Amino acid sequence: MGMFDDVVVNAKAAANAFSKKAGNIYDISKLKFNANSIKGEINKKCQELGEMVYESKLKGSSSQQLIDAKIDEIKALKDDLTAINELLATAKNLMICPACSAVIAKDSVFCNKCGIRIEGQAESDKEDKAHNNPENSQADSDNATVEKSPQE
Ligand SMILES: [Zn+2]
Repeated sequence: MGMFDDVVVNAKAAANAFSKKAGNIYDISKLKFNANSIKGEINKKCQELGEMVYESKLKGSSSQQLIDAKIDEIKALKDDLTAINELLATAKNLMICPACSAVIAKDSVFCNKCGIRIEGQAESDKEDKAHNNPENSQADSDNATVEKSPQE
C-alpha cells in the first residue's frame, strides 16, 4: 500500500518540478531544436577557437585573452546543452494523458487522474524487435521451392 502511494506522489512531484522548470514543457521538438542549434553554436565556436590558436601559434602573437573568452563562451553553451538534455530526458519519461491532459509517467498503464487506460505506448518497442525475425529468410527459400512446382 505505502509503496504504491510513494510512486504516485513521486510521479506528481516530478511532474510539478518539471512544469515549473520548463514552462511550455511538452514541446519536445522545440527542446530538440534548441539542443541542435546550441550544438551548432558550439561547433562553430570550437572551430573559431581552433583558428585563433592556429593563428596565434603561426604569428607568434599571444591572443590568450581572446582564446580564454572563447573558451568561456563554449563552456556556457555546453552548460545550456546539458540543461536541455536533462530536460529532454525528463520529458521522455513523462507523457500527457490523452483524455484529461494530466502529466503522467510514460510507462503508465492507467492515468493517475482520470483512470483511463493508456494504450500503445510500450507496444511499439516490441513490434520493432519482431521485425528482426530469422524466420523471414527461411520463408524466402520456401518460395523458391514453390516456384519449381510442376506445371499442369
Ligand atoms: Zn487522464
